Amino acid sequence: MQVKLLEKNKNKLSFTLKGAKVSFANALRRSAIEEVPTLAVKTVEFRKNTSVLYDEMIAHRLGLVPIKTDLKSYNLPEKCPCKGKGCAQCQLILTIKEKGPKTVYTSDIKSKDPKAKPVYPKMPIVKLLKGQNLEAEMIAVLGQGKEHSKWNPGSIFYKYVPDIKISKKGESMLECIDACPKKVFVEKSKKLAIDKKTLMDCHLCGACEEISKGEVKLNKDVDEFVFFVESWGQLEPKEIMLKASEYLEEKIGEFNKAFK
Ligand SMILES: [Zn+2]
Repeated sequence: MQVKLLEKNKNKLSFTLKGAKVSFANALRRSAIEEVPTLAVKTVEFRKNTSVLYDEMIAHRLGLVPIKTDLKSYNLPEKCPCKGKGCAQCQLILTIKEKGPKTVYTSDIKSKDPKAKPVYPKMPIVKLLKGQNLEAEMIAVLGQGKEHSKWNPGSIFYKYVPDIKISKKGESMLECIDACPKKVFVEKSKKLAIDKKTLMDCHLCGACEEISKGEVKLNKDVDEFVFFVESWGQLEPKEIMLKASEYLEEKIGEFNKAFK
């Protein structure tokens, strides 16, 4: 199996995975979205809420706020030495205390841990009018996407790496240029050619095969995938994939234990 990095920046990562079956690619994707933990608000205790939104609605909004997560500083509650009772190693306390008139943003949330605070400061929570108050204490814990999507670390998907063969390089094939919704083809000395820059955008729709009556062929039996990882901000994309492979390995390790 070969992994080749295509693009990497703060919130996005893409790479190719060669020599693996689709079942493996999917196991890796599912491990990333279901197993890799992140911090999110689990409980909210309201001291004051005279805003127009009910407690439940504000709690729901707070739950969906992405919080910068350092996986080395926190344990999953069920794997914590406190056995899930709650301690500084598995819980993060956040508070909010605001008075209207103002719009309460995620930047108004105060965190006990300066490293673990909302990723995006300008997410609105509620608009307070004159005389309205919001005061609450929140407990954020590590959790997994399989329990609730608020703990999901990002959007991770893959597709087959396109393998396009052009058999007859005549002028009549130039129709493929307009037929392709992803603009994968270009005209090169009056002949149809593949644009290397946009090739990875191909989503194998088959429009080129159809219009060229089979003169352009998409190979569907490939063992190479291109992965796209977009983080919601809690973790770095490379961290998501490294953890995903760790969790996958841990699960496979169960066989070793069972068959000893
Ligand atoms: Zn604990």
